[in-house]
Amino acid sequence: MLSAEQKKELEETIHAFVGKPIGPPIEARDPVNLPMVHQWCEATGDENPVYTDAEAAEKSVHGGLVAPPLMLQAWTMDGWSMHEGYDVPRNEQHRLHKILTDAGYTGVLGTDTEQSFTRYLRPGDLITAEIFIDSISEEKATGAGVGYFITTRTVYTDQDGEEVGWETFRCLKFIPKDAPPPAASQGGEPEVYTPARIKPPMGHDNAWWWQTLDEGRIEIQKCASCGELRHPPRPMCAKCRSMEWTGQAISGRGTLHTYTVIHYPQFPGYEFPILAALVDLEEGCRIVSNVVDCDPKDLEIGMALEAFIHEDEDGFKLPLFRPAK
Ligand SMILES: [Zn+2]
Repeated sequence: MLSAEQKKELEETIHAFVGKPIGPPIEARDPVNLPMVHQWCEATGDENPVYTDAEAAEKSVHGGLVAPPLMLQAWTMDGWSMHEGYDVPRNEQHRLHKILTDAGYTGVLGTDTEQSFTRYLRPGDLITAEIFIDSISEEKATGAGVGYFITTRTVYTDQDGEEVGWETFRCLKFIPKDAPPPAASQGGEPEVYTPARIKPPMGHDNAWWWQTLDEGRIEIQKCASCGELRHPPRPMCAKCRSMEWTGQAISGRGTLHTYTVIHYPQFPGYEFPILAALVDLEEGCRIVSNVVDCDPKDLEIGMALEAFIHEDEDGFKLPLFRPAK
C-alpha cells in the first residue's frame, strides 16, 4: 500500500516515460511478401483478389498486388523466441509496467486500439516500426480497479523513411479491485467484489447481434444480395459490396478450425485457462469463441463442437462452444 508521498514519487517516475521511445526502431525481418499475405488471407477468410491474384490486382485500381492494410502490425512482429519470460524488462515499456507491478498495480487489460493507414503496402516494401510511450493518464477508478491508462503509439515507415501508418494501443495497469485499496483512496474496509466478464462494445453495426443473443438466438449476419454469411457483424458484404443484410439463425454445429490455450495474464472475471477457438460453422462461416467443458489436452483440430448460449452471473449472454455430444 502506498503512502501519499510514495504515490507522488511513483507518478513522477512513470510520467517521465511519456514521449520516449521504448527501444530502438524495429526493422521487419522480411519485406512485405506474398506468402505471408496468403497465410493471412487464408486465416481471415479474405478472398479479395487484389491481395493474392497478380492478374486481377493488375487490372484493379491498385495496378498490382497490395497487402491487406490490417497486416501493418504483422510485418515487424517479433518471433516467439523474443517472448520468453517477463521477469527481466527488455525495453522501456516493460520497465514502466514492472514499476507499476511492483507498486501493486498487478492487473493489466488492453482497452482499445486505433489504426491509421497512410498508403497500401506492396510486396518488397521494408517496414520499420518505432514505438513510443504516448501518454499516461492520472490515476482513474474503473470497474476493474484503480489504475493508469497507458497509451503507446507505433509509427510505421517504409524503406524511404516515409510514414505508411500508425497505431495506438491503450491498456489499463491497475490494482485488482479485490486487492486492498492504496492509501490515497483509503476510506474504510475494502468491499468484497466479484468482477464480471468485460462487456464488448455494442455499436451501430453489432448491437443487433447481442440483442438476438439476449433473446436466446444465435444468428449470423447474411448478405441480402448474394447470401454470403459474415461475422463479426459489419456494414458491407466483402463479396458483393452490398449494404443490405439480414440475420440467419444457425444450427450451432461446427468444427474446431484452430485454438489457443490462454494461461496468462489472469485478469479478473474469467476462468483460466481460456480455450480460445476459431470455429468453422457448418453454415460456412467462421467465429471466434471459447470452448468450455473440455480439457485443454482433449482439444483437437477438426473436432465437432456445438454452440450454446451461456449466461454470466450478471445476466450477460454470449455464445460458447463445447464438444458435440
Ligand atoms: Zn453480398
